[in-house]
Amino acid sequence: MNDAPELGELVPPDRTLMGPGPSDVHPRVLRSMATPLVGYLDDYCVEIMNDIQEGLRYLFETDNEHTLAVSGTGSAAMETAFANLVEPGETVLVPDNGYFGARMGEIAERAGGEIHTVSAPWGEPLDPADVEAAFDEHSPTVFGFVHGETSTGVRQTNVPELTEIAHANDAYTIADTVASLGGVEFRTDGWDVDVVYSGSQKCLSAPPGASPITFTDRAMEKVHAREEPVRSWYLDLEGVWEYWGDERNYHHTAPVSTLYALREALRLLAEEGLEATWDRHERVAGALASGVDAMGVGLNVAEEHWLPTLNPVRVPNGIDEGEVIDRLVDEHGIEIVGGLGALDGEIFRVGCMGHSARPANVTQFIAAFGSVLAEEGADVDPEAGAGAAASALGPDALEETI
Ligand SMILES: *Cc1c(COP(=O)(O)O)cnc(C)c1O
Repeated sequence: MNDAPELGELVPPDRTLMGPGPSDVHPRVLRSMATPLVGYLDDYCVEIMNDIQEGLRYLFETDNEHTLAVSGTGSAAMETAFANLVEPGETVLVPDNGYFGARMGEIAERAGGEIHTVSAPWGEPLDPADVEAAFDEHSPTVFGFVHGETSTGVRQTNVPELTEIAHANDAYTIADTVASLGGVEFRTDGWDVDVVYSGSQKCLSAPPGASPITFTDRAMEKVHAREEPVRSWYLDLEGVWEYWGDERNYHHTAPVSTLYALREALRLLAEEGLEATWDRHERVAGALASGVDAMGVGLNVAEEHWLPTLNPVRVPNGIDEGEVIDRLVDEHGIEIVGGLGALDGEIFRVGCMGHSARPANVTQFIAAFGSVLAEEGADVDPEAGAGAAASALGPDALEETI
């Protein structure tokens, strides 16, 4: 028998989470997780699930019946989308302009799909003309795209055009909104997207573990018509829907505390209002962008594709970005991260999502970032940055409670 480990008390450090997720969790959401559990078929649990489905339809802007929370993080929702919609041998089109588009390809391949990519440089969105050309060349039946690409900080702005191209070719669309839903405008029904998924720990101010997803009836007909069962038992919607649909039969134990958290996050969203939430993200992240700009460090994205929830801040010349990231967390308790892939060493990725999208966080970040950069020898003007952020936020910003 092994010796019992000597585990100290759990005391996480006090962090301000301004990276690509998780974001700060709202205190009300944290408290909801400390409430007693009920069984997964208790009437109360069923009520919570109904509330979540209603809250998710509001969040997604959809009337889709098949709207639920996958037990798992955003990647589990991604896998649910592709595993159910893609049958072995089907052709799947995915983007190659970011890390999460690439993950779509890996997942779709494991579902048996044949993968083709539509290209754009890292730091730019897909061009609809290129998507159309890829449809003409490869005739995919499923087209996945990333609405908010967290690896580059780029927003895919022309979603209705993309879905129109796919539908003109009788294909289905899957949208990744893990880092954008609840942060910037997205309209599932209005933009005619077949499957949309997200995550809880980015724009929703909740912990990771219960991930929103919605399927249109048309997409569900494709799932029902499969010749071969979904290769993942756990994520197979035929089984999962026995629990989330009217039958309410056991499939797997609901992550009860995580569902409480998601429900509280959706309750906060309903209180604030979806459009007010989008406005807050734009205003608060706008102040962040003004601050870094005035400091003398720009964003690595064209203004029309700026994703307020994830800001790709350029690394100034001669600066070791790893050193800046380490100092921010060690000396200021602020988490941000660096670039990936083609943007490794080129950008800092500064998230502004959910409960992290607050004036106090931005003020704190701009002050700390400016002083660390200046101490590292960058040619920046920290005071100009702080001033620009403060005036963009307005005089009463720090008194706002969200
Ligand atoms: C974070 C993220 C994911 C993956 O979500 P996990 O919760 O880490 O599994 C997928 N897509 C995008 C755009 C993301 O930002």
